[in-house]
Amino acid sequence: MSTVVALRRLARPMPPKLLLDIEGESFIPAPEIETWARAAFIDEDAALVNEDHAHLRRADIGFLWTNVPNSRQGRAIIGTAERGQPQGAMGKWAKARAVAQVRGWFGAVPDFIVTIDALYAAECGDAEFCALIEHELSHCAQEYDQYGAPKFTREGRPVWTMRGHDVEEFVGVVRRYGADASGVRAMVDAANRGPEIAAARIAHLCGTCGRQAA
Ligand SMILES: [Zn+2]
Repeated sequence: MSTVVALRRLARPMPPKLLLDIEGESFIPAPEIETWARAAFIDEDAALVNEDHAHLRRADIGFLWTNVPNSRQGRAIIGTAERGQPQGAMGKWAKARAVAQVRGWFGAVPDFIVTIDALYAAECGDAEFCALIEHELSHCAQEYDQYGAPKFTREGRPVWTMRGHDVEEFVGVVRRYGADASGVRAMVDAANRGPEIAAARIAHLCGTCGRQAA
């Protein structure tokens, strides 16, 4: 099946209109994005299956829509990926509060949280949306052990980690969608320069990468 046909058959989720219309900053859990991402990219029989995401068949991924504008150094951030468990130094109550919020959204603390800009998603094309979701999924990785094999806990659960841009998975997203779609907004100039530059420019658009670059 061609990519175009597969995309048409798999209607992508759109952000709730409520979120686009309301005043005030908000987040809305989006289980429909997870369902769609599995059917589109992750499952063995996914329409546009990408084996780079195979480990995510065992991951819980919580998706959020937000209408909160985000930017870094003048560039819009349209998506982020992070660990589900709140990270970083926090007071005991601040951490418990953050965990309670995550539980309220997802019912449990997921392995990863992916946040998507609802206003961008409402206007971008299908290929751009696919590239954005696959880009964020590519940050959601399984740790390797000292021999380069996927790492598991003693209970047999994958050990999760966040992955930066310097890996093949991100080049793969550019290869799948072309530099235009993968770079989302600011990619046009890089389109003829090859995947390395393309990957670097994506880094400016994703809040997760930006954090690592800073
Ligand atoms: Zn990124």
